[in-house]
Amino acid sequence: MSITDRLESTLETIRRAALECGREPNAVRLVCVTKTFPAKDVIPLLEAGHRIFGENRVQEAMGKWPALREKYPDLELHLIGPLQSNKAREAVDFFDAIQSVDREKIAEALAKEMAKTGKRPKLFVQVNTGAELQKAGVLPEDADAFLAACRETYGLDIAGLMCVPPVGQQAAPHFALLADIAARNGLRELSMGMSSDFEIAIQLGATYVRVGSAIMGERPSPRLRGEGEAA
Ligand SMILES: *Cc1c(COP(=O)(O)O)cnc(C)c1O
Repeated sequence: MSITDRLESTLETIRRAALECGREPNAVRLVCVTKTFPAKDVIPLLEAGHRIFGENRVQEAMGKWPALREKYPDLELHLIGPLQSNKAREAVDFFDAIQSVDREKIAEALAKEMAKTGKRPKLFVQVNTGAELQKAGVLPEDADAFLAACRETYGLDIAGLMCVPPVGQQAAPHFALLADIAARNGLRELSMGMSSDFEIAIQLGATYVRVGSAIMGERPSPRLRGEGEAA
């Protein structure tokens, strides 16, 4: 199967999963995760009409996407990896959505850059639902207070929540926990579900699923790249 065949079949699976649980298929958007893959692998997806993409590193994205964006100005780029506060300026400037807001220092840096530039990327707070030491994200028990601080102290408009469940565990309880935290904080967007579990995420309310390898193919040595971990 080609990359575009896998895109089509992923979109079809999303559609079916949404309909099966009585949801509107358009309520679930696909973020195609293109980290580690060169622009030439992304072009067929753009040509096929796909527009929402995810990258986990600011630097890598800034090398890959400007030329693509010139040709496809309506594309939407999501930062899904950990953000350092010294990269807040680039992130605000470059991304349409930042899914990894997880501490006050970042909230403060983003607020400052957003005020300066007038840009308003869609923001998600990442929750470390499995309380894993090495993983980015605010702890579940700290999420309400952090969301309040984002709104009240930094004036940030948080659209929703994101999580990456622990490897080797059932994802469903993590997705349900994320949905609970979002509901009690009045947040509409839920970014959850990856190649192996996006159908379950859709059942539990995902509005964005982030799918990489099921479309792009296997990535080289993910461990070395520290995916989903503090970089
Ligand atoms: C790499 C990555 C994905 C995509 O993972 P796949 O298993 O390849 O679908 C999703 N979310 C985050 C945060 C990632 O780093």
